[in-house]
Amino acid sequence: MRKIWVSVFLSCILLVNARAHSALIEGNHFHSNNQDVVIKTEKVAGNVYVLFGQGGNIGVSSGKDGILMIDDQFERLADKIKAALKELGSDKPRFLFNTHWHGDHSGGNTVFGADSIIIAHTNVRKRLMTPNSGGRESKPFAAIGLPIVTYDAGLSIHFNGEEVRAVHFPNGHTDGDSALFFTGSNVVHLGDDFFAGRFPFVDLNSGGSVEGLGRNISELLKQIPSDAKIIPGHGAVSTLNDLKNYHQMLLETTCIVREKMKTKSLDDIKKEGLPEKYKDWGTGFIKTDRWIETIYNSYSAKMEKK
Ligand SMILES: [Zn+2]
Repeated sequence: MRKIWVSVFLSCILLVNARAHSALIEGNHFHSNNQDVVIKTEKVAGNVYVLFGQGGNIGVSSGKDGILMIDDQFERLADKIKAALKELGSDKPRFLFNTHWHGDHSGGNTVFGADSIIIAHTNVRKRLMTPNSGGRESKPFAAIGLPIVTYDAGLSIHFNGEEVRAVHFPNGHTDGDSALFFTGSNVVHLGDDFFAGRFPFVDLNSGGSVEGLGRNISELLKQIPSDAKIIPGHGAVSTLNDLKNYHQMLLETTCIVREKMKTKSLDDIKKEGLPEKYKDWGTGFIKTDRWIETIYNSYSAKMEKK
């Protein structure tokens, strides 16, 4: 116990000198109205493109073998996404990978499943089959929208001249998160384990945990090459340095809230807020209050389990 305390204390001290991350990412996600959604295509590197629309960022590998798509936003946007894919070669991806089960990443499955082989972590399929999974109002997906290839630890797709390596990172954003490494193009899609320049949504009801997320990002920082391009689940295409800043933010804000949890109520901690340098991080989907609450609940749940 003492050992853990010392390491928490040390990491708190180290973090005091952390640089503030000031990137403000344009907020184009989670809006409820989709009438004017425009799908914007951006080349990332090598074979890989990213499509921005509404919901999670879509990664696309385009080349001689066809299209592999990572995530598919919402069903109602499928026609617009198909039009964007056609520009890249074909509107019928051979493979569709879901980084996790949330509807803004898997909603198009019921359309794309007609032509594509859907792949995901085992828990994604389970959650898509379960009514009201994670305490959300949801109906089980029809068979056509379910992943038909599932994996537990890792899986490779050899496509468009490179190995696309999927790796499961447990209990971060949810319990079914995958990161995808485009090993030749030097691009990584991190799904919702990474919200670029913003406080993340951690789905505690779907097996997510703030501690687990910090651990996953720390592991990813070791695995991702320093010059790789990173596609976050939400926000602009980023660098390893951006991911480092995000990790620093996770550790430091967690430290602050956990310290206060020893003597203060959640309401009081929220009233005190977080240091000014984190103001911009709270301008996305997850505001500062909600982030404090997430850390509080994640660590309270952990204490209750003991
Ligand atoms: Zn998500």
